[in-house]
Amino acid sequence: MAAQPLIRRLCVIGVGLIGGSLARALREKGEVAEVVGSGRNEDNLRAAVRLGVVDRYDTDPARAVAGADMVVIAVPLGAIEPVLRAIVPSLSPGAVLTDVGSAKGSVVADVERVCGQVLPNFVPGHPIAGTEKSGVDASFATLFRQRRVILTPLVETAAAAHHLVKKMWELTGAEVVDMGVRHHDAVLAATSHLPHMLAYTLVDTLARLDDRAEIFRYAAGGFRDFTRIASSDPTMWHDICLANREQLLEMIALFGADLERLAEAIRTGDRAAILATFQRAKRARDNLYLD
Ligand code: NAP
Repeated sequence: MAAQPLIRRLCVIGVGLIGGSLARALREKGEVAEVVGSGRNEDNLRAAVRLGVVDRYDTDPARAVAGADMVVIAVPLGAIEPVLRAIVPSLSPGAVLTDVGSAKGSVVADVERVCGQVLPNFVPGHPIAGTEKSGVDASFATLFRQRRVILTPLVETAAAAHHLVKKMWELTGAEVVDMGVRHHDAVLAATSHLPHMLAYTLVDTLARLDDRAEIFRYAAGGFRDFTRIASSDPTMWHDICLANREQLLEMIALFGADLERLAEAIRTGDRAAILATFQRAKRARDNLYLD
């Protein structure tokens, strides 16, 4: 344990993949003196104690946050508003509140609805790291290492709260960047939310074909790579696509028009158009954007 840990008492509401991994990473660094977990499912919370992810838990989130200097909300987006309603009256004065939700506009709106304003000690956040697995069993301390965490502080956000949340994520090995809320939601709609919609829809379309058993039997590496994320938690993704609906619908429309253009090129045998699409995509995939 560091002589003076960064966080005295951390409360994680939603001790799953993300909340559990954050707690593990901070514990490993000795930068948190006590971790209190909260959630609905006692089996999961008992497992969190057994695995050493949390010291204790309380299924009542209002009781769980009592005395915490850092509160991290790590539940699906649709559960954030009820969690806020439950915990805000019980937060300690000076407690810093943050979240890990995959869309940020909806979370800021939740805070405004529940509190009537954006709380100065609230710092919206989103770690760009994850797997298709869920629950505390799937959590691990190195999940955020060499990954990015996006914070979307608002003009109302207190500098000290922003600084503490940034420091907390840096201790997990992540690179922390700031971004505007709308920009975050537009970027994530393109890079994460649209790909999940494509993977889910592709697998669903094929799974409803009469000869699906035959089709899946011959699914090779490419299909597996492309569709891995269709194993992600359906509730979480249901919440994400509704929370970021405006930006996601724009991306679906753009992609739909491009797919229709490709279909037309295939229909008419337009070799140049087909080749140009694939060449542009290969160049981008190979050289430009992905490290
Ligand atoms: P997860 O493994 O399913 O963990 C979520 C936890 O929240 C569960 O342990 C669950 O515990 C608790 N929970 C669910 N509904 C709740 C409710 N209504 N009230 C209180 N607790 C509730 O999911 P996760 O992957 O960690 O995702 C958590 C958040 O991180 C989501 O907002 C997601 O958008 C965001 N995120 C996910 C990823 C990713 O790749 N997975 C990446 C970045 C951000 P109980 O069942 O005990 O209630």
